[in-house]
Amino acid sequence: VIEGRRLALLANAPTRTRDGLDIRLLANAESAADVALARTRGADGVGLYRTEFLFLRHKDLPSEDEQFIAYRDLVLGMGGLPVTIRTLDLGADKADAAGLVMQGEENPALGVRGVRLSLRYPAVFSTQIRAILRVKPLGQCRIMVPMVASLSELRAVRAVLDEAKREMGIAERIELGVMIETPAAAMTADLLAAEADFLSIGTNDLTQYVLAMDRGNPAVAAGVDALHPAVLRMIGETCRLAATHGRWVGVCGGLASDPAALPILVGLGVTEISAVPGFVAEAKQVVRRLTLVEARAHADLALQCKSAADVRALARAFEDTR
Ligand code: PEP
Ligand code: MG
Repeated sequence: VIEGRRLALLANAPTRTRDGLDIRLLANAESAADVALARTRGADGVGLYRTEFLFLRHKDLPSEDEQFIAYRDLVLGMGGLPVTIRTLDLGADKADAAGLVMQGEENPALGVRGVRLSLRYPAVFSTQIRAILRVKPLGQCRIMVPMVASLSELRAVRAVLDEAKREMGIAERIELGVMIETPAAAMTADLLAAEADFLSIGTNDLTQYVLAMDRGNPAVAAGVDALHPAVLRMIGETCRLAATHGRWVGVCGGLASDPAALPILVGLGVTEISAVPGFVAEAKQVVRRLTLVEARAHADLALQCKSAADVRALARAFEDTR
């Protein structure tokens, strides 16, 4: 645990490797308390704001005004730093009160969830997009789309965004990013990067879909480790493919808050980390003790490991050299 003076020093220190690579270190935040902690710990912004929280609260859908106020307050709370608004991610394990989520799906995790659900309800979706676009200053909110499997979904979202901008008389560019949560998105990261402004890996879902293990099922919980070499190879491939279009890749899933994973993620080419607010200081410390050169060598070894347990052993050995 990092304490007192060291915490304060870290909050003001850049998140830079010893050989000069800058990592953007953001926080996942929904509540005012998250935002406050993110600020005191020196986060560079919000890398994941899960908007479904607004939809889980009551039976009625949140209005455009209600959503606008929530997004605006987030921007105000972060005092001018960028915030990443993830569009509605209902379905699968996230049921809503308003009844948008389909009932009786045999495989809800493979059913109408995330962007698929949003595209099924264009009016609900464009209300959300309009609420985001109302937040000033324009561009402060980046839009991020969950559960994308195909380029056509990104294009459909872009069409909704363009239409809302046209109606609202907005000409400025608004960053539109894609979450990499399906193996399909990871393996076509070049196609997505060609048309998205950034990619952000949701390691919770990516792990569940790569391993075909339900993230909420206790019977397989022991096997659901995002440090599985298959997941790491997907992350590495995502970074490699995104780089062909000059797009940056972030991680906003749980792996971003795992100290064992950070050196590997940096070594694989991830340049933005969005962690839980309480982990921001430690994450910064880990990055500041690294060099990109050693992170890359370490990541190469991790990709060759035979199991998640081997990767964890490798990570422990690496930490011992710090
Ligand atoms: C993820 O899947 O890693 C993610 C960040 O989204 P959520 O946990 O909200 O599904
Ligand atoms: Mg997810």
